[in-house]
Amino acid sequence: MADKFDVIVIGAGPGGYVAAIRAAQLGLKTACVEKWLNKEGKVVHGGTCLNVGCIPSKALLEASHKFVEAKHDFDDIGIQAGDVSMDVKKMMARKEKIVKNLTGGISGLFKANGVTAIDGTGKVTSSKQVEVTGLDGKATTYEADNIVIAAGSVPVEIPPTPLVEGMVVDSTGALEFDEVPERLGVIGAGIIGLELGSVWNRLGAEVTMLEAMDTFLPMVDTAIAKETQKLLKKQGLDIRLGTRVTGSEVKGKEVLVKYTDAKGEHEATFDKLIVCVGRRPYTQGVVGEGVGIKLDERGFIFVDDQCRTSVPNVYAIGDCVRGQMLAHKASEEGIMVADIIAGHKAEMNYDAIPSVIYTFPEVAWVGLTEQEAKAAGIEVKTGSFPFAASGRAMANNATEGQAKIIADAETDRVLGMHIVGQHAGEMIAQGVIALEFGSSAEDLALTCYAHPTMSEAVHEAALAVEGHAIHMANRKKRK
Ligand code: FAD
Ligand code: AMP
Repeated sequence: MADKFDVIVIGAGPGGYVAAIRAAQLGLKTACVEKWLNKEGKVVHGGTCLNVGCIPSKALLEASHKFVEAKHDFDDIGIQAGDVSMDVKKMMARKEKIVKNLTGGISGLFKANGVTAIDGTGKVTSSKQVEVTGLDGKATTYEADNIVIAAGSVPVEIPPTPLVEGMVVDSTGALEFDEVPERLGVIGAGIIGLELGSVWNRLGAEVTMLEAMDTFLPMVDTAIAKETQKLLKKQGLDIRLGTRVTGSEVKGKEVLVKYTDAKGEHEATFDKLIVCVGRRPYTQGVVGEGVGIKLDERGFIFVDDQCRTSVPNVYAIGDCVRGQMLAHKASEEGIMVADIIAGHKAEMNYDAIPSVIYTFPEVAWVGLTEQEAKAAGIEVKTGSFPFAASGRAMANNATEGQAKIIADAETDRVLGMHIVGQHAGEMIAQGVIALEFGSSAEDLALTCYAHPTMSEAVHEAALAVEGHAIHMANRKKRK
């Protein structure tokens, strides 16, 4: 038997590495097991988020956005940039460098905080034991008073579109193209599909998005989703709703895709196809047989509100458990669980987790949509403010979009905030704080915002809840 720990965390993504660091900070003897290998065959920390998720996708989104600005928008503000071109290999090399810096940074944080990093594949073999199969294939059993499973998720594959190296790829493959495909198909117009479709559309690909659902972004307030759809269409994304992909075939350098919609069966030909139809929990091999850790009907590890599994002292967090598959949700659960293990009282507010789509403009939301609130029988009042009426948005050459606040008609309590606009992902923190603190729309309306800022649109939307926006024709007279 090898070392004994207070806590062993399996997985070093944003759920696991944060849990491990917090546990160590709280004085617990902590180890974190990770098996992710980089291209050089070395174990790296950071999980999906740092290696093939949030960070590399944002590096490409930022680069491709700057390219579009230089090519098409600089002229509007008087900059003559001449012939602008993108060096895709250099863009990719920059992305790789950012990933390397950040993953190395996590290993550094482990050292600094005294977390023992164990390389290999972890498996819970009892409520107090983790077996780790090292890179040399040898198994070692470690004892732990507490175990945290943070094994994450992997892309969903669907039978009609089996992956074909370099041609039919998942999100990971779409972050690796070494040239811009002329015709790109994307299956799934969810968050990841829209971000990756945007990257390659901006760089010149003709992008067709095939989405099975009839509604675009159903989790976003309808007014914001509709405006987003219009803006992305204007940028050239051909988003075809109500289309279900039924088959695909690679023929030489082309991919033939079959799909159906209300009008019948169709075919489309692409140079590359990205399959972005969601992610599934990755629990294969991590939960030993007979330990008694239950999975739910969709394969997620079953946990209570505080991430306790069905086995005492074994917790599970992040993408491998119920809830939104988001890095910050995983991290917050990691902190909560570490605090609980250390004997503190801790809980999470699952009603105040923000979501962001990093398109341009960004889409960000927290809390209920107007439609969800009404469906729940809540009487609401709403306030919206368009960026077209914002001085800062005009100065920024970014007047597209709007901010919308949904408040309880009786109590004025903020129930949701939904924004499409430049920097919406930054602005949404105000909605998160409002929900967390139980603010009223009036609280936001009475707050002094810096001028000129994009956030003033949130202030104006709060004023508009009572019909009193300043820079917009008023709907109501003040009593
Ligand atoms: P993961 O990050 O998946 O980490 C799990 C880790 O556990 C992995 O490193 C894995 O190797 C390891 N592991 C699994 N099993 C074992 C085992 N048996 N032994 C040892 N190690 C094991 N989220 C956002 O919030 N914002 C975004 O902008 C965003 N963009 C994204 C873009 C893309 C393209 C993708 C694919 C995802 C994106 N996400 C984003 C989602 C985000 O990456 C995940 O929600 C987040 O990484 C989940 O964290 P986690 O720690 O639960 O799991
Ligand atoms: P998300 O869950 O945000 O990652 O989005 C995945 C999207 O893929 C969802 O909007 C699904 O409706 C969509 N999808 C799943 N299967 C198919 C399919 N066979 N054809 C087209 N779209 C699909």
